[in-house]
Amino acid sequence: MARLLCLENPLLDIQAFGNHTLLKKYGLKPNDAILADQRHHNIYEDLIDNHAVVMTAGGGAQNTARAAAYMLASGSVLYLGCVGRDSYADILRSACHQAGVDAEYLVDDSQPTGRCAVIVTDDNRTCCTDLGAANCYKLKHLEQPRIWNLVTAARFYYVGAYHLTVCPEAVMALANEAATNNKVFMMSLSAPFIPHVFKATLDMTEPYWDVLVGNESEAIAWAESHDFQSKDVGEIARHLAARPKVNKKRPRIVLITQGPSPTIIAESGILEDRCIPVKSIERSEIVDTTGAGDAFAGGFLAGLVEGKPLETCVDMGHWLARLSIKELGPRFPNPKQKY
Ligand code: ADP
Ligand code: MG
Ligand code: MG
Repeated sequence: MARLLCLENPLLDIQAFGNHTLLKKYGLKPNDAILADQRHHNIYEDLIDNHAVVMTAGGGAQNTARAAAYMLASGSVLYLGCVGRDSYADILRSACHQAGVDAEYLVDDSQPTGRCAVIVTDDNRTCCTDLGAANCYKLKHLEQPRIWNLVTAARFYYVGAYHLTVCPEAVMALANEAATNNKVFMMSLSAPFIPHVFKATLDMTEPYWDVLVGNESEAIAWAESHDFQSKDVGEIARHLAARPKVNKKRPRIVLITQGPSPTIIAESGILEDRCIPVKSIERSEIVDTTGAGDAFAGGFLAGLVEGKPLETCVDMGHWLARLSIKELGPRFPNPKQKY
């Protein structure tokens, strides 16, 4: 049974090359990342019907699950989330299957599968997400004996913080299971709006974090929303690592990625933080940085699951992020490359 369990919002990315007229039609700004409202009702069908689109499996932790599976033996990774009863969900099922991820979706009859319109204009990418069925995940799905058996069999849990807006009860159930049985509970900060807008929910999970991952803008958003007077990412990481945790048998590891700049590691009980450099990529080789952080988390988790030393896990994350940046969308080269 799978050793790594990931939970979050399964989304289908619908990517198209567009122009400013298309953005204007839907009231979007270049590089926006927003949730859809009434104005965007038609955007997904419009893209599919009138533009050359590429549809790929998306959603932060679903990307991370596929990423980790890329580096692990098949059957190692399980992914949970909620989808609709539609053909979009079949695309996600098949993407997970191809990646070697066991997806156990709750199926909601009232909503379509979550979709993210990704409009590429020049160097910008604008995302407009309709969570749809992803917003309907329920604790009762996790608690079914068949699923709960998979939960208890897993040794590593990874939750994207986007799920805190959906079903914090399920996140806490995994957090408790990890702390009680000395398993690893890892969270991603996911986006700057999470610490700002969902601070209370995020704080509820904090004592359970064995590993926390985020990028520099998310780390700074955490500091701002917690009145921590620093914009120094190393200092924020050290502070986060030192805060109290429930499971005293494990140190807390905080990983802050900074795009092409070094990744910072802070560990509870260790005063200094460490920086692990990122290999630079030629500008001409950068196809798409969407999901680089998700890929990093997947490579890191693959290392953890295989019991590798911390620095090796980070290096595996960098290696996998690098591969995904050279592909369009959060994808990895086929045939598989070896680390
Ligand atoms: P996010 O996708 O969450 O914003 P980052 O941008 O920090 O995360 O990227 C995560 C990882 O992806 C980095 O640690 C690095 O390994 C890789 N990466 C991202 N952007 C670049 C880049 N421009 N050049 C080289 N590596 C990159
Ligand atoms: Mg980034
Ligand atoms: Mg990220």
